[in-house]
This record gives sequence, structure tokens and C-alpha cells, in this order.
Amino acid sequence: MSLAELLRHGERFVGCLAIGRQPVRRAGAVEHALDAADTAAIDELSQALFHRSAAFGSDWIVLTLQGYDYPSLGRCPALADDGRCMLHETGKPAMCAAVPLEPLLPDRLQMRVLEGRRESAQWLGADCIRRKAEEGVPLVLEGRVADAGALVRFRGALAFERGIWRDAVFASFHEAAADLRGAFARLGADGHLTVSLVPALTAAARVSSRCRELCVAYIDNQIALIERTVEAAIARRRLDDRPVTRELRGFAQAYAGARELLAAPGWRPDAARADTPEIEAWLGAA
Ligand code: SF4
Repeated sequence: MSLAELLRHGERFVGCLAIGRQPVRRAGAVEHALDAADTAAIDELSQALFHRSAAFGSDWIVLTLQGYDYPSLGRCPALADDGRCMLHETGKPAMCAAVPLEPLLPDRLQMRVLEGRRESAQWLGADCIRRKAEEGVPLVLEGRVADAGALVRFRGALAFERGIWRDAVFASFHEAAADLRGAFARLGADGHLTVSLVPALTAAARVSSRCRELCVAYIDNQIALIERTVEAAIARRRLDDRPVTRELRGFAQAYAGARELLAAPGWRPDAARADTPEIEAWLGAA
């Protein structure tokens, strides 16, 4: 999700920051050999959306935001009991509109993404991706994405938010680069780390006083949401929920510290930037 989406749905999703590698290995995309044009397209998209620096080796680092919940629930917090999305009318996240395509991979690889998903155990039984166009909504026709609107929206949000929080957060990782490299090595190629949303929020809050107010209000909502979510988990009494409860409590603690910092009387935004009105409108702070 984008930061703007998380801020808009702050009472429904617990937000977190995910740190991973370029997802070329996901969805079976490397089951097939990549040719020079594939590699060039991956590189072009990576330049626009991801981060790389010598401190992290040759890997592209992907910073994304996610809604976070107990895997034992096996459902999105916005899924209604009748199987519909509660956000469908008001605007569901761009990622949900893009699925089953993968916006973090170039358009020319989307056919392979679909093939990979058709075969993968995670999608087993869904039987919702078919080879013949007449059997449903065409996603890829003759190798081209039929309607790239959702992919463009998702990538556009990622690119726009570089200047709000993603570049600043990546820059702040440099001191911890060795630790991150070690953590990635333990995770495997397509794993990712999750941490609290605080680094992204503190970067966004520095844009202007309005952005700061929005972030403080979001933090208050998140602390209350985490409390409700953890209480419900304790009532379920499942052992496998415990690591998530610990992580959520860690998020709440980080939020409390960030709130104190952002609400301190001496806090000031960074020097005014030309794109402040645009960012405030994007985040919903205008
Ligand atoms: S489309 Fe599905 S995953 Fe996306 S917000 Fe709605 S219920 Fe959640």
C-alpha cells in the first residue's frame, strides 16, 4: 500500500514498513530464462522504483508499506463476511486492483507472473487464471498487458512517495547496512523484513506542520487499533499468534516514542519545499 492509502485507512489496517529485495524471483518469474530485453526492462523499472547502494552490495532494495495482521486469521481486515471488499466503493488499494499482475515487475514479464501464479501452491484451487481470453477478463493479450491502468497507478504512487519518505528512509539505513545484509541472508531471496511505520511517518511529518498533524492523528489511531487487535488475539488464545502480538506491541511502542517526538514543542518541519502543497494533497493533509 502507499502511505496515502494507509493514512486514509488508518482505522482498518495496521501499517508496517517492509524491506526486501527486487522481486524477480517471485511468482515464478525466473523459472524461465531472462533475455537481455527482460533484464533491461527490470533494470529500468528498478531505477525508477527501488534503491541500491554499494553498502548493500549489488541487490536492489525494495521499500514498500503493507497492512499487517495475524496470518492465523487468513483474511484481509477489509474483507466483509459476504466475501466482498468493504473498500470497493470508496477506493481499494491500488495493489488490490493490480492483482494478479505484479506491478513491481515490468509489463513484459506479466505473462510469466500469471503462469507462475497459476502453478503455485499458494494459488492452488483458486482456478481463477485461465489461458484462454474468452474465459474471463483478458489480462495479457499477445504478450502485452491488456489494461495497464492499475500497474501504472501503483508504480506512480511508489515513485511519487520516493520524495516523501522512501529516499529518506533508505538513506537512514546506511548505518545499519551490515545488519540488514545479514538479515537478508537469513531470510532467503524473496523474504522481507517488517518494521514499524515510524521511519516513513517521521520523514513525511517533516514536510510541513499539516503533514505532522496528520501523522500524529494517524499514530493515535494506530495505537488504538493495535490495542484492539491484540486484545482480540489474546481472546483467541492461539500459540501461533504470539510472535505477531510481540511485533504489534513493538510497533505500538515505536509509535508512542514517535508521537512524543512529533508533539514536542520544539519540533519544526524541514525548510519549506516547493512541492509541499502537492504532497499535502496526496496524503490528505491539505
Ligand atoms: S480487495 Fe481484498 S485484499 Fe484488497 S482491501 Fe479489499 S478485501 Fe482487502
